[in-house]
Amino acid sequence: MYKRIEEILSEIQVLKAEYQESVATQPAHVAREISDKSGVLRQELTDILIKGAGVCPECGNKPHGLIQPVAVEGIKLKLYEVRCLVHFNNRARGITIEEAVKKWNNKDYMPERRVSA
Ligand SMILES: [Zn+2]
Repeated sequence: MYKRIEEILSEIQVLKAEYQESVATQPAHVAREISDKSGVLRQELTDILIKGAGVCPECGNKPHGLIQPVAVEGIKLKLYEVRCLVHFNNRARGITIEEAVKKWNNKDYMPERRVSA
């Protein structure tokens, strides 16, 4: 599962470069095809990151999954996050996908984000 995530992320990087290249040199449909491919990969990534997660208890939408790079005491880590795109305070993080999904399902959300001016 994590190996596939790495593959998807590197494939998306490759497509990004191809996209930029094609915009300058290729007919428009080429860029569109590349962006469609990238969309399919992103969907696959989301599906992996929210595997087993229920819908948002407030709006019933499927949650979104993402990978957050963080540094804890100078050590770089990847955290997995499950969140609602409508309710920003409904988000759960874990050091594994399973942990993030479990917390999400248990409504064990992160502390509310403070809006700094
Ligand atoms: Zn929601």
